[in-house]
Amino acid sequence: MNATLIQPLHAFARGDLSLLAGLVVLAGLSAWLFLEAARAGWRLKAERGQSRATLEKLRAQTAEVRLRCRQAGEAQAGWNGIRKFSVAKKTVECEDVCAFYLKPHDGRPIPAFKPGQYLTFHLELPGRDKTLIRCYSLSDSPRDYYRVTIKKEKAPADRPDLPPGAASSYFCDAVKEGDILNVKAPGGHFFLDMAQSRAVVLIGGGVGVTPMLSMANAIAASGSKREAWFFLGVRNRRDHIHKAELEKLAAENENIRLHVCYSKPGEGDVKGRDFQHEGRVTVELFKELLPSSNFSYYLCGPGAFMKSITEGLEEWGVPEGDVHFEAFGPATVKKKAVAPSAEETVHLARINVTFGRLGKTVRWEPSAGNLLDFARDNGVKIDSGCCAGGCGTCLVAIKSGEVTYLQKPDAEPEAGACLTCICRPKSHLVLDA
Ligand SMILES: Cc1cc2nc3c(=O)[nH]c(=O)nc-3n(C[C@H](O)[C@H](O)[C@H](O)COP(=O)(O)OP(=O)(O)OC[C@H]3O[C@@H](n4cnc5c(N)ncnc54)[C@H](O)[C@@H]3O)c2cc1C
Repeated sequence: MNATLIQPLHAFARGDLSLLAGLVVLAGLSAWLFLEAARAGWRLKAERGQSRATLEKLRAQTAEVRLRCRQAGEAQAGWNGIRKFSVAKKTVECEDVCAFYLKPHDGRPIPAFKPGQYLTFHLELPGRDKTLIRCYSLSDSPRDYYRVTIKKEKAPADRPDLPPGAASSYFCDAVKEGDILNVKAPGGHFFLDMAQSRAVVLIGGGVGVTPMLSMANAIAASGSKREAWFFLGVRNRRDHIHKAELEKLAAENENIRLHVCYSKPGEGDVKGRDFQHEGRVTVELFKELLPSSNFSYYLCGPGAFMKSITEGLEEWGVPEGDVHFEAFGPATVKKKAVAPSAEETVHLARINVTFGRLGKTVRWEPSAGNLLDFARDNGVKIDSGCCAGGCGTCLVAIKSGEVTYLQKPDAEPEAGACLTCICRPKSHLVLDA
């Protein structure tokens, strides 16, 4: 029999109660110590498990923060060259106008853009060996997709024999949901500064409404109460791009005041419901409606529309710096370049520009502004896209001489070439055009 049991029995037998009591206390103490030690062991084990779990959790959190930082970096930085986007949704907005909702094919985040900027598409059209480059303004505020709204360009009214616009027809007639497109990162210098709170007047003519819609949507999405007067000029309801979206925007945001002008209302078009004013968008209308001329103006539309509005604003005394515009085609409103010094002017007036392929040499005309317009004025065809140094379409090789840039190109042009839309000669120049 076990000694621990025998001893107390003997002791009990001897009547040695004090020893018995001592032994009982000792046994109790041992049991308590044993239980405490076991409990401490369990606690330690649990704590070890817990700290392992905490460590795992911390590791997961760090990885997530790193991923978020990388994604934020990517989203901030844009991308170089071409990225593939798939058409997630295509909608018909009105006659000959479709909207395309684009999602990155790689599934990674897309950079936010400044409302008013555009995307540049590199299109490989069936039957064409040359890539067609075209710019389209982003028509929504920054979200997890990009949206462009494209109007199919018809043949000029006086030349119905000519084919319609190549890229816009391709988009509207052939591009379908699921198709993949080659896209350059958002760019352009025509945008609304969201850090400012100054009241704005947004003026869109026809499809020129696209950058304005992006600006108005961005104001609404920011939750700011920035005052925005939105003027849209179209012929009638058949041309009324993003009608429902514009009306909803104005109904939900009292700071956005929508004024739609129909120049030729259709039979079923109702004033007060579909449009507010009959006629074109004019500065006279601004004078009637705006409390003063003290606004920042943003406009985009057909050549004649832009010309009449910019001239009208100038006459009204609006400072040049308050008027911002974008042209979708060849510029009809010349952007005023920084004036050269008197010494430079004398030097510039002596410069010759040679278009090597044509074998044509012309004296540089400083009033031309940039080489692209100068070439056009002299019957030399150079393809162009954004006319703002962003898309690279007007890139021409320089055979000899140097150029001066009138504004910073979005991306450095390749060595030995120049972006003709934003530069002028610095010395005698021979171009490969
Ligand atoms: C910054 C920027 C943003 C833009 N944003 C938008 C936008 O949001 N939405 C939009 O719809 N557009 C936008 N554009 C315009 C767009 O980039 C294209 O210019 C437009 O879609 C026409 O291109 P296309 O290839 O369809 O037409 P093109 O093929 O270039 O043809 C243009 C015109 O020339 C005619 N033509 C065809 N062949 C000849 C010929 N041999 N001789 C003479 N004429 C001929 C065509 O019939 C057509 O009328 C934007 C442009 C820029 C620069």
